[in-house]
Amino acid sequence: TENSTPVAELRGAALAARLAEVRADYDRFRARDLKLDMTRGKPAPEQVALADAMLTLPGNGDVFSESGEDARNYGNLQGFAETRALFAPLLGVPPEQVAVGENSSLGVMHDCVVWAMLKGVPGSSRPWSKEEAPAFLCPVPGYDRHFAILEEYGIRAIPVPLTGRGPDMEAVEALVADPSVKGMWCVPQYSNPSGETYAPEVVRRLAAMRTGAPDFRLFWDNAYAVHDLRDAPERVANILDACTAAGNPDRAFIFASTSKVTLAGAGLSFFAASPANTAWYLARAGKRTIGPDKLNQLRHIRFLRDEAGIRAHMVRHRALIAPKFDAVDAALRARLDGTGVAHWTAPAGGYFISLDATPGTARRVVTLAKEAGLALTPAGATWPGGQDPEDSNLRLAPTFPSLEDVRAASEGIAICILLAALERRAA
Ligand code: PLP
Repeated sequence: TENSTPVAELRGAALAARLAEVRADYDRFRARDLKLDMTRGKPAPEQVALADAMLTLPGNGDVFSESGEDARNYGNLQGFAETRALFAPLLGVPPEQVAVGENSSLGVMHDCVVWAMLKGVPGSSRPWSKEEAPAFLCPVPGYDRHFAILEEYGIRAIPVPLTGRGPDMEAVEALVADPSVKGMWCVPQYSNPSGETYAPEVVRRLAAMRTGAPDFRLFWDNAYAVHDLRDAPERVANILDACTAAGNPDRAFIFASTSKVTLAGAGLSFFAASPANTAWYLARAGKRTIGPDKLNQLRHIRFLRDEAGIRAHMVRHRALIAPKFDAVDAALRARLDGTGVAHWTAPAGGYFISLDATPGTARRVVTLAKEAGLALTPAGATWPGGQDPEDSNLRLAPTFPSLEDVRAASEGIAICILLAALERRAA
């Protein structure tokens, strides 16, 4: 149909007609006076409700660990052995190399950055803050809160492109030769927001590359370790094994949490690494707390039980959110297929769809959407400093709204993307 003529091929009267048509679609959409929000990468109410049974756990009198420790009292900085045993397979390390934190892995990452800045890490000759201009590599598009931590502490953020199979390793290998590059953010599986999983060869090269800084660290944020949306799950290669095999056993700090497994506001977070790094982490953590919330650990153990329990629970999440991802894709296809104005991901897991609109239009799309009652994540949020040089990337978060709202919002997004592209073509 005419609708799917590539926008780049429209000119003159045909372009004017198409622009008028899509503007009318937009006005109709706006007149529906909807109030939609596709910004929040958080679980829907029905998802957190899947863990409602936890609210009465561990239950009266059930307060002891297997070895008889009292979960009500102070202590056990590292976390119960059975908590660590339950989550160690997910982290890909032995239980002795896991530390259980509080509810937020972002908090654990933040602390690691701050401690590295103030104290250095194993292998540092001085704290990172004493370096002239410490820097992190930031695969883009990426997670805005990672970038915000760097900004907060004056660490330079150097964007490196993602390829669909992880970061561009030629670029990474060239950049890490600089000794001021101390770290790199990695969301290695179902990345936020691109959804990609780092290929085995990328993992191997990250583990083996020569770094200018002897105390360089991969901040390996495996936030979506078990968060599958499709039948064929993707699993990133084991980074700790790869680092050990390459002779760089201390290169990775691994982070994860149950925020999007059990309760986003009351889950468990994890730090995992080599023995030296884990000892370093616990030495620092022991200064900031006498011990973590162990009742919450019991709650998780009683509720999830074992690996099969975790898997079964994630299947229930998938049943709730996979249809929302499908709805976004269907709505975008219906209006944008053949137009050439955007491409977007169909992730096999995680929480986001990453969409690249016509370069130079992402901000305009967000403005148009806002004026039609549809909240989108600010354009540029997926880049350090909020600056997307192409002004093209948009992060769509379909999990939180109802399926019906996701459908309506996605139609609106498609209209805004097309309108912005036509406006630009006509300008
Ligand atoms: N890391 C990534 C990549 C995320 O996308 C998110 C949440 O969106 C987090 C970490 C937050 O984790 P937590 O809830 O454990 O602090």
